[in-house]
Amino acid sequence: MDERKQGGTKVSGRARVVVIGGGYAGVAAALRIAGKAARRRVPVSVALVNPSPLFVERIRLHELAAGKAPRRIELARLLGARGIELVLGRARTIDAAARAVEVELGGGGDAGAETRRLGYDALVYAPGSGAAQEIVPGGGEHALSVADAASARALHERLRAAPPGGRVVVVGGGLTAIETAAEIAEAFPALRVALATRGRVGEGLSVGGRAYVGRALRELGVALREGVRAVAVDASGLAVAAEAGGAGAAERLAADIVVLAAGFRPAALAESSGLATVAGGRLAVDRWLRAPAHPEIWGAGDAAAVLDGDGAPLRMGCATAMPQAAYAADSVVAALAGDAPPPPFRFAFFIQCISLGRRRGLIQRVDPRDRPLDRVITGRLGAWVKELVCRSTIVAIRLEGLRAGGHGSPGQAPRPRGAPSLGSAAAGERLPSGAAT
Ligand SMILES: Cc1cc2nc3c(=O)[nH]c(=O)nc-3n(C[C@H](O)[C@H](O)[C@H](O)COP(=O)(O)OP(=O)(O)OC[C@H]3O[C@@H](n4cnc5c(N)ncnc54)[C@H](O)[C@@H]3O)c2cc1C
Repeated sequence: MDERKQGGTKVSGRARVVVIGGGYAGVAAALRIAGKAARRRVPVSVALVNPSPLFVERIRLHELAAGKAPRRIELARLLGARGIELVLGRARTIDAAARAVEVELGGGGDAGAETRRLGYDALVYAPGSGAAQEIVPGGGEHALSVADAASARALHERLRAAPPGGRVVVVGGGLTAIETAAEIAEAFPALRVALATRGRVGEGLSVGGRAYVGRALRELGVALREGVRAVAVDASGLAVAAEAGGAGAAERLAADIVVLAAGFRPAALAESSGLATVAGGRLAVDRWLRAPAHPEIWGAGDAAAVLDGDGAPLRMGCATAMPQAAYAADSVVAALAGDAPPPPFRFAFFIQCISLGRRRGLIQRVDPRDRPLDRVITGRLGAWVKELVCRSTIVAIRLEGLRAGGHGSPGQAPRPRGAPSLGSAAAGERLPSGAAT
């Protein structure tokens, strides 16, 4: 018998599936599991644990920071269509030996908060990632971020309160940093915005793509400080050192607001629960997206280290998270139905999409391994395609609620030709976590 089936999750009666995390990966997985199980008449009950009743469109948090009101997407409505229970709370521990998750209800971190223990036959681990403020000393106290909704709102308040001529430094040169600097500069033209990064801004883009990003940022008034390493943040700004300058070559960049956008930190739950992790705390999973020592646990999204063909973790992105979720969901249903495991997960990148404010965008064609090709779409058309891709994530999730499998073929390489389609996995984005500065 296949070893992945020996850890089998099929139980008599109704199998219990718990999904941790109500982001792109968790919601897509939960809906697909419930839908596909119903279609195949596999009796399951699915519960999804998330601290907030609202779905957070993380890929738009730079827009929220700049003042755009988020769409209100209620998780209960999204999940209710498939009879999925929403457990409002934060998973505190995974007791893998007992196959149970301890949930702190409400998720507010109160010591005396009520808890609930959820037993599972299959667990999907998708608690995502958050800010990585600790990468620069002082970052936790003095820097802001766009990594989660509360931080993006706090940043917006600070931007609104900043005086004309106030200085904002965004740290990072990857896609999130570029998008954040552009969005702030466009929405707050009275502020002076700079982007400070190691290497060059948009290092992973083609020559043409990088040139376009540089031009667009300069037209928006963003000053570029390339080749510098952030060494400390305090209340009055940022200390940087020239990358090539060796020790002691520090310089101060005065700033009213410092935004760290140089990578995300995976949720710590797997590590704190004693599960095997790699790549800074991401759940280690095999080519079937299962935790090797616990085949009843699947990982998807930012919190899991899904490996590419070269054995490196795929970069964080909803573009990678959603196909992983679809694959994990199909694999869960197959395991519950007693089927053989599906072929291993495969993924190919197609494009990277970058917003540069609301009026410009860059669509960078990449090869299946995410290396830039010499083909870009820029300007208003680029902005339009980027907006379409952002909307397609929600469309894909809603489609899972209406018709399981609506998100397309999990684990399949996106088609290498043609325009990005709604629900396609083709919206390749983000530089590797921590590598974008
Ligand atoms: C400003 C910005 C722009 C971005 N743009 C793009 C882009 O254009 N393209 C792209 O591909 N990617 C982009 N990303 C990255 C993308 O948002 C993430 O890769 C994606 O959100 C990962 O999805 P996920 O479901 O793994 O995690 P998340 O979306 O982070 O969702 C995780 C969920 O789990 C919840 N959770 C956390 N801990 C627990 C717990 N202990 N118990 C229960 N629930 C928990 C969280 O509250 C959250 O609701 C962007 C990110 C940012 C911040």
